[in-house]
Amino acid sequence: MARYTGPVCKLCRREGQKLFLKGQKCYTEKCPVERRAYPPGQHGPAQERRRKQSDYAVQLREKQKVKRIYGLHEKQFRNAFERAAHMPGVTGSNLLVALESRLDNLVFRMGFASSRNAARQLVRHRHVEVNGRTVDVPSYLVVPGDEISVRADSKDLLAVQASLEARTRPALLDWLALDEKARVGRMVREPTRSDIPLPVQEQLIVELYSK
Ligand code: SF4
Repeated sequence: MARYTGPVCKLCRREGQKLFLKGQKCYTEKCPVERRAYPPGQHGPAQERRRKQSDYAVQLREKQKVKRIYGLHEKQFRNAFERAAHMPGVTGSNLLVALESRLDNLVFRMGFASSRNAARQLVRHRHVEVNGRTVDVPSYLVVPGDEISVRADSKDLLAVQASLEARTRPALLDWLALDEKARVGRMVREPTRSDIPLPVQEQLIVELYSK
């Protein structure tokens, strides 16, 4: 499956808001969303002037936003949605909890990588262990009690060190624990919707997929 490798700032501009796709860099670089607040492309400014969106367009944009934040393909996202829909509870919240429990997301949230993209690469390159075993699948679902660590011979990787020491590193969420020096983190409990700091309206995604 081809992954989008173009400029990620265009994705934020398309959604009309900061999605922090460059992770920690978004706090230090000049953000194109602030400088050019209209969709990318030749007709971007005109689209912005004409902007009156149908219900479908609003729902679609919300889905695209979440998909882009977690860096998923349509099929991966759809599969995650189907699993969430079959679980007890509120589908939208189930979906976000499942996405937050992905290994690449937790590597990012714990600060071992500066963005979700960088975290995915760290996992793919076999630098990350779950409960002492190397896992190279970014979509691996972590459950409460699981210990996530950087492999012994990768603990001093510059990228990991720089990410942990960055001034712009977001605060650790309270459902996670971290021993920064040992490069070991743990999912203490399953997050609830209110523990997930994402400005999205997940019910719009449920409405879109329920058509
Ligand atoms: Fe998005 Fe970050 Fe680029 Fe701003 S700097 S447009 S938040 S990726």
